[in-house]
Amino acid sequence: MSATATMPELFPKLFSPLRIGKTTIKNRIVSSGHDTGMSVAGNVSDQLVAYHRARAVGGTGLIVMQVSGVHETAQYTTHMLMATDDSAIAGFRRIAEAVHPYDCKVFAQIFHPGREIMESLDGSRPVTYSASNAFNDRFHSVPAVMPTALIKEVIEGFADSAERMLKGGLDGAEIVASHGYLPAQFLNPRLNDRTDEYGGSAENRLRFLREVIVAVRERVGDDFVVGLRISGDEMSEDGLVLDETVQVCSALNDDGHLDYISVVAGTSATLGGSVHIVPPMTQTTGYTAPIAGKIKDVVDIPVMVAGRINQPQDAELILANGQADACAMTRALICDPEMPNKAELGQVDDIRACIGCNQACIGHHHAGYPISCIQRPETGRELVYDLPNPVVRRKSVMVIGGGPAGLKAATVAAQRGHAVTLYEAGRRVGGQVLLAERLPGRAEFGGAITNLIAESQRSGVQIVTGTQVDTALIRDKAPDTVILATGSTPRAPSIEIADDPVVLEARDVVNGADVPSGRIVIADWRCDWIGLGVARMLAERGRKVTLCVDGYMAGEMLQQYVRDEMLSAAHEAGVEVIPNVSVMGIDEDTVYLQHRLSGQPVMVDDVAATVFSLGPIPNNGLQAQIADLGIDVTAIGDCLAPRTVEEAVLEGLKAAWKI
Ligand code: SF4
Repeated sequence: MSATATMPELFPKLFSPLRIGKTTIKNRIVSSGHDTGMSVAGNVSDQLVAYHRARAVGGTGLIVMQVSGVHETAQYTTHMLMATDDSAIAGFRRIAEAVHPYDCKVFAQIFHPGREIMESLDGSRPVTYSASNAFNDRFHSVPAVMPTALIKEVIEGFADSAERMLKGGLDGAEIVASHGYLPAQFLNPRLNDRTDEYGGSAENRLRFLREVIVAVRERVGDDFVVGLRISGDEMSEDGLVLDETVQVCSALNDDGHLDYISVVAGTSATLGGSVHIVPPMTQTTGYTAPIAGKIKDVVDIPVMVAGRINQPQDAELILANGQADACAMTRALICDPEMPNKAELGQVDDIRACIGCNQACIGHHHAGYPISCIQRPETGRELVYDLPNPVVRRKSVMVIGGGPAGLKAATVAAQRGHAVTLYEAGRRVGGQVLLAERLPGRAEFGGAITNLIAESQRSGVQIVTGTQVDTALIRDKAPDTVILATGSTPRAPSIEIADDPVVLEARDVVNGADVPSGRIVIADWRCDWIGLGVARMLAERGRKVTLCVDGYMAGEMLQQYVRDEMLSAAHEAGVEVIPNVSVMGIDEDTVYLQHRLSGQPVMVDDVAATVFSLGPIPNNGLQAQIADLGIDVTAIGDCLAPRTVEEAVLEGLKAAWKI
């Protein structure tokens, strides 16, 4: 098949239209409802409009806007949309007007989280409401039981909100019953112990959701799409299971008020279940498709599915298998909004595939910031960086260092029209990503470099490997400007080490250094992937591992779902964790630690080797020398200040944008 093969040969199902209710979407690629952190005071912002417009321009068939709260008790974060009064209508209209010119349809989610409330507007712990007072294990809240009057108010809120979406020119509304949110709390017999008409039998537990659907349908009429999002399996203790949700979907399908069902997995209610809300790279591509298939078997309305579907090939397969009628490819679109157009043109090698790292998308949301992407920092910054920015004068640009920062800087500078040469001292470009991808469960991380290399090559960057740049070379090449991206090296321990114990650096262990058998202590200052990953790696090779972390928990710096998966795997492998300790000294077989809070000594005996993950120090020795040559130089990424791939790529973009 040629690289320029046309769409019908490659993705015949993905690029066929789909009828949903009285609306038709042009293809089966959906940006499903996801928090963006881009609302301002509960309303649509300029940034949110630009974000969705970029996905529509890129060829997305359907956008489902993020949740909008339907009642004052539905405010689950401080940075969400609210549809509780008519001021929401103008915002919906802005989104509709931004995406409709690109033949992209847009629905929005109507939402009540019940007990799943993360924050309040004033910092106090809010009263949460649920069907019953079932304890919430993730947020440690005890909900109040919803009185019937509040149930009726909330149902009315769903209908009012949907009507505002209709008035704003959207094409549909999606009722959120997924992820253990309020409708699911009513459905679940293990959470709902009401004795009134909303509890007890399956019919009674379905009553709340049924009344929501009927109220919404009555309010918006038959031409407006009304859909349902549900977790086919909440994948959690006490969560809804597939047999139960199949029965719910079958009954609601028979009622005849819904136009589609959107299937996901997981629940907000527990740490284990919440991993599936935005599944990390440890989950298999499209792993939820069989669940959607079971629901599709019992309904005659379209079924969408979400769950790590990050490439059009995967989506096509799911559609061809008959497991769903459309695929939610949300992070694939966060990472590459042009993915649909590229797929339709057969340019599959040009697609920047999402690697499921969760770092800048859901990671930003959880931290309270607008979502972005570590591979595409333009996302969430469309108003600044998604604009044409051709060069005024073509310059010669020397980029020193072929890690993520250097590759991004080189690519963007070349895309803008500069003549760019990138020098890498090693045999391969990729920097520390080449190490990160070797940690257990992190193989897909290497995709970030695969994508950056391809982009740099397409943009015309000349890459020179195996060349250590010095001032003689810089003088010889006489670039107009230099971008320094020379990364970092591990910090050496500055502690007492006596009696010649075995000590190793984490990078060397990842690279295959010999590690003796017996107990291994890992001194982990970073609290990120490296300590946890090396601990698991060694434990799975039969070592007894004690992970000593200089923080409250191993993986403290990681996005929650990623951390939880890694903690789970490390626990299964038998890793022992000691939190809040820093390493003070080592002798032949003892590691001496100090508790960070109490100051008390902590000792680990019978130690065969100690592995250090003490953080990086910047390699920026060249910066002053280049400046002395009178050449403009900008340091980015770890050589400026060691952080993560996200900041490296962002600074590459920023540096190249200014040249
Ligand atoms: Fe995908 Fe990571 Fe980008 Fe999120 S930050 S969209 S998971 S590549």
